[in-house]
Amino acid sequence: MERPLQPGGTIGILGGGQLGRMSAIAARRLGYKVRTFDPSAGACAAGIADEHVTADWSDTAALTRFAQGCGRITLEFENIPPATVEFVAKSVPSHPSANVLAICQNRRREKEFLRASGIPCANFAVVSSLAELQAAVKSVGFPCVLKTADFGYDGKGQVKLPTAEADLAAAWSKIGGAVGVLEAWVPFQMEISVLVARTVDGRTAVYDPAENIHRNHILHLSLSPARISAATAAEARALALSIAEKIQLVGLLAVEMFVQDGRIVVNELAPRPHNSGHQTFDANETSQFEQHVRAVCGLPLGGTKPLAPSAMVNLLGDVWRDGQEPDWTKVLADPSAKLHLYDKGKAAPGRKMGHITVTAPTLEEALRRAEALHAAL
Ligand code: AMP
Repeated sequence: MERPLQPGGTIGILGGGQLGRMSAIAARRLGYKVRTFDPSAGACAAGIADEHVTADWSDTAALTRFAQGCGRITLEFENIPPATVEFVAKSVPSHPSANVLAICQNRRREKEFLRASGIPCANFAVVSSLAELQAAVKSVGFPCVLKTADFGYDGKGQVKLPTAEADLAAAWSKIGGAVGVLEAWVPFQMEISVLVARTVDGRTAVYDPAENIHRNHILHLSLSPARISAATAAEARALALSIAEKIQLVGLLAVEMFVQDGRIVVNELAPRPHNSGHQTFDANETSQFEQHVRAVCGLPLGGTKPLAPSAMVNLLGDVWRDGQEPDWTKVLADPSAKLHLYDKGKAAPGRKMGHITVTAPTLEEALRRAEALHAAL
């Protein structure tokens, strides 16, 4: 059995975005050394890491250099080739596995895994030609949504087909003619997500569901705890735990779900820290980033309880009007607002540049203040 990696050891992180940056902050706080790997030299996690390797995912010489001296390797980005994880796993214990990554990064494998595991998800059909799409709409029904199997995120690579009048040929060409998944539209009342951590020896920790509010397909607000019944929250946690077992997760997994008439429909899996868990940094016993580190290193898992109701609001590049740095004193003047900036350099519309977490005695107050701070910027 794999031995825990104690603080003082070196953790390698594949990917250098904000999720890697915040994982690196948590790892360094615990006394680990951190090495990051990313095709971009300007990756924002590099500023926190002890060392950063800039190379392509398929550069085995660079991966060998990166892995040498690491006691554990993990990842923070979903679109890494599974072969990269397989390669480094030959010399260093690496979590999550290439298999977990391969399932979660491809909608077809993900949906097939969920269906085979008996996890409730939207009815779907795999389509690999226009003719198959024309046949599939008959079994799936309208409204439905066509999604590319690979590289979809934040609503990219998706076309909604509202009625039988929808132009199937246009939808098929819009997703690029690759393999697609046609999914029944779920008329949900709310989107939630649950974080679950699991160690190599099967210990688990699960967080309360967060409630997610999107704008233009990008997460805008995440509220914790979600405004759902205790029974629905318990069902969501149980489903996340069941998925973690069935997929043999080691590390951290975010499970995105729809709540429809009090029932849960699982939408997506992400085997890494998740945007909807950022508030755990300031508002829970253990942040998702520290939990990620604990889980991959085989340490005892931390408590997950919320310390206060919280609202997290994303700061997209749009807040940098005309490229000008916003006046952060407005946020910093609020005693229970925490500002997180990712040091990404150039702001572009839709680019995730940072977030604010507000804690308050009630969720309504946290939400109101988070929205007011966002509007003031
Ligand atoms: P995804 O990229 O699958 O996370 O989808 C992005 C967003 O599109 C989700 O957060 C939902 O708001 C919406 N969406 C995706 N699939 C469905 C569905 N089957 N039914 C209803 N809404 C969906």
